[in-house]
Amino acid sequence: MRLAYPILAALLALPLFAQPSVTVSLKPGRDAGQPIDEEYTRKIREYATETFFNSPLTDYLPASKTVPTPKAVLGDIAGAPGILPYSTEVYKYMRMLEAASPRVKVFSIGKTEEGREMIAVAVASERLIAQLEQNRARLAQLADPRTIGFDDAKADSLVAASTPIYYITGTIHSTETGAPTALMELAYRLAVDESAYIKAIRENVITLITPVVEVDGRDRMVDIYKWHLANPGKEWPNLIYWGHYVAHDNNRDSMGLTLQLTRNVLNTFVGWKAQVLHDLHESVPYLYDNTVGDGPYNAWIDPMLADEWQMMGWNNVSEMTKFGMPGVFTHGTFDTWSPSYLMFIAATHNGISRLYETFGNGGADTEERTLRPNEYARTWFKQNPPLPKAKWSQRNNNNYEETGVLTALAYFSANNKLFLHNFYLKAKRSINKAKTEGPAAYVFTADDPRPGGQADLLRMLQDQGCEISRATAPFTVTMPGKKKSAGRGGRGGTATDGATDGETPAAKPEEKPKPEPKTFPAGTYVLRMDQPYSRMADTLLDYQYWAANDPQKSIYDDTGWTFGELGNVQVARVTDVKVLDAAMTRVNGPVLAPGGVEGAGSIFLINHNADSALVTLRYRFPAASFEAAEEPFEAAGHKFNRGSFVVRNLAAADLSKAAEELGLRAWAVDAVPSVKSHPIRAARIAIMHTWLNTQAEGWWRLEFDRMKIPYTYISTQVVAKDADLRSKYDVIVFGPGAGGNPQTIVNGRPMYGNPLPWKVTPQTPNLAYTDETDDMRPGLGWSGLDHLQEFIDKGGLFITANDTATFAVTFGLAPGVSTTAARNLKVTGSAVRSKIVDGTSPILYGYSDNLAIFASNPPLFGVSSMMGGGGGGRGGAADRERATGRGTADDPDIPQGRTPAEIPEEPHGEVWEATPLTDEQLRNPVNVIPPAARPRVVLRYSNNSELLVSGLLDNGSELAQRAAVIDASLGQGHVVLFSNNPFWRAETKGSYFLVFNAILNFDNLSAGRKLAEK
Ligand SMILES: [Zn+2]
Repeated sequence: MRLAYPILAALLALPLFAQPSVTVSLKPGRDAGQPIDEEYTRKIREYATETFFNSPLTDYLPASKTVPTPKAVLGDIAGAPGILPYSTEVYKYMRMLEAASPRVKVFSIGKTEEGREMIAVAVASERLIAQLEQNRARLAQLADPRTIGFDDAKADSLVAASTPIYYITGTIHSTETGAPTALMELAYRLAVDESAYIKAIRENVITLITPVVEVDGRDRMVDIYKWHLANPGKEWPNLIYWGHYVAHDNNRDSMGLTLQLTRNVLNTFVGWKAQVLHDLHESVPYLYDNTVGDGPYNAWIDPMLADEWQMMGWNNVSEMTKFGMPGVFTHGTFDTWSPSYLMFIAATHNGISRLYETFGNGGADTEERTLRPNEYARTWFKQNPPLPKAKWSQRNNNNYEETGVLTALAYFSANNKLFLHNFYLKAKRSINKAKTEGPAAYVFTADDPRPGGQADLLRMLQDQGCEISRATAPFTVTMPGKKKSAGRGGRGGTATDGATDGETPAAKPEEKPKPEPKTFPAGTYVLRMDQPYSRMADTLLDYQYWAANDPQKSIYDDTGWTFGELGNVQVARVTDVKVLDAAMTRVNGPVLAPGGVEGAGSIFLINHNADSALVTLRYRFPAASFEAAEEPFEAAGHKFNRGSFVVRNLAAADLSKAAEELGLRAWAVDAVPSVKSHPIRAARIAIMHTWLNTQAEGWWRLEFDRMKIPYTYISTQVVAKDADLRSKYDVIVFGPGAGGNPQTIVNGRPMYGNPLPWKVTPQTPNLAYTDETDDMRPGLGWSGLDHLQEFIDKGGLFITANDTATFAVTFGLAPGVSTTAARNLKVTGSAVRSKIVDGTSPILYGYSDNLAIFASNPPLFGVSSMMGGGGGGRGGAADRERATGRGTADDPDIPQGRTPAEIPEEPHGEVWEATPLTDEQLRNPVNVIPPAARPRVVLRYSNNSELLVSGLLDNGSELAQRAAVIDASLGQGHVVLFSNNPFWRAETKGSYFLVFNAILNFDNLSAGRKLAEK
């Protein structure tokens, strides 16, 4: 079709970089003038199980006289059966490439938790590699338009002079094993191939490659694979540990930034000012580019990014469809809502995030693979679907990974100026955001009662690349008026909260709340949104709302994460742009909470504000005397919360040094305040894990390590053998996600097959730094259960959460507590509101009310004062409907022909309480639990109307008002049960001290308790 003249003119008038995207006109495939590596090429064709599992981009390897192929290290070609290289072998090859080619440069980008190296490999033309630094300097200016005074003409010239960076990361998921060899070969092709197609990539884009992201996990996986090869015919141990702390969840850390791999990739991406982060995974046949995925998309990204996802995703499908490769698609059920994925580092830093799922065999065996009908079905977005059954090899997987990435690189390089210009535009729009869609700033008040929690949150934002400023004088802004309660949340259908909820439908329409002025004191921290990475801050600090009727029914991950709420830190979202004019200076260096000792005297008072540093302090001085005040008090002109520390036998200089480092304030006094107190000891802790799953407890371990809390790491198998746990430990922590159900925790894995060792041997050296066993199959067993019960009975504390709370209830370790499964409740990784039930419990020391807690399909607790009595919850006398008879619904029936009898009032308890005992139950109270041994409900879920803080909540009435944290008694000891998960992906820092309080007060948990009379 001929273009009408004016349109053509308009197109021609566009500057070069602003042209609409172009498709690649260069023909993929070898250059006839360049010889190929005959043997390598023959093997590629031999190991690919079908010709259509290969492409013109990967069905040959160009030869080079000077540059070694991957065979130099692998002994065979990339993707060969039976070969899975360790990280060091992959690095060795990349460094051989670097030594042999001026087109390759290797950078060390940091270490893992276990001290292994991470690298990034840059591949581009000699000219680009020689000018990496100059290019980076130009990209840095495009990344921050403030540096060029928002001069678009200057930006145009920078775009014209610059080359974008496409960053590819491999094998973050250790059981997804194909990427390292694919990326070794990809680097070789990019460095050596003289075909026009590859040359264009090399000259128009800098490809950056981290071949192994989860290095600790990779080396363990190779160990296990080698064990498998050495033990033919046997079942092999599954990879129970990947990284040092977590497994699959290593791809959920891009908000909290607590894993080394996340920080190293983030620093590389942001440091290089890269444009794309493309993360390679394996699960779905045969190539799913899931960044197009499905809705809902993250609500804080620049809409331009969604368009870039579509452009790149559909181009990938289009090109690979032309090659005749089956099973390539980009639309699918993965929602792009949560920003916790590694690739999302790009999305939140003005780049383009991408993620492939290719098909892997979890090792390098070639195997017949049978797919499920929904995997091989032809759909509108999968016109050439995968085969129902096919022989599948690692080489096939490598072909798909390389072909996908090469076509993506070709498209990106052909449009390199367009994407660079978009990069600049996105940065500019992120800065303008403060004054367009807003907010103008997030404000962290100087009078937050938790300066430690505040500083921790601000440091994480700094690590994300956000700039923090500090007000040098008080300032006033206009805040939106507060709506009366029953605003957010509360999608509960018609069910009511019960009699005490106090919510009745408003008779008249609510008045629109009026804006109110708010003054923040000097010293307040301000995260100005007129900065390039404002979107990162916005997605972390804002509220999330996932509609109960959202068309997306297969929710991929968490739906809410609001860091201020879950962190128990005050965060004000300020839309008034006047905030940007407040007097403030930029904070240089990490934000630190003020700390130190004031006054003179040998007794030190430290306010309990639930800052995590308090537990670090306790364990730093195990020999010093720490006591907890059981009531609030005033001393030295200051108010101290219940639970505040009274410290003795500690040198002022030592405390002063520690307090400064930890950001804690202490007041020295001469006399002990007259307030009831009890000792808080440096309890001896064991963290117990199963051999079924260790991931969720890994997030607990990570924070215990970060807080420098010492513990012994034991498995259920150790507990099964140890009849004297109490002499060794005061507290046993059994984190959630133990795997399976209460029965499988006891039974372990099936014993039918062969033993499954997880043990350091010369063949499996990388299984170190975790735990060891000769056989992963046996579980806790009945003896272990017995030992646990005895441990608690003798005064130990057993801490459980979520599924392990259900475990404790199932096996009678928490008398009077029951759990039920939800029927219609949907709460999928959401933040919900809690209410204090018993503020005198040591578990709540330092807390004020309305803490947001993290809930994901929590068990529903009921409490009873009777053994074997289920219940609590709803359905008591208050909810009972009257029987058929005379009168109205709330008017009693009257038997005829006699004087009406007086109806005794039925005892009524709240949803979170045990139903009060009746006189009938007390006649012969064999099943009645004595008052001191009854479960003590500490924290509950709030009323339905206020329950949702962030994320998804549907049919919340099932959860509303239920007990959330219970302190149960067994013998001389306690079992603390969390329905929520207090340690989750470093997103729930506000809840940590609920657990730390339980630990520090393990032998005084009943402090402050008021007992029932009967
Ligand atoms: Zn994966």
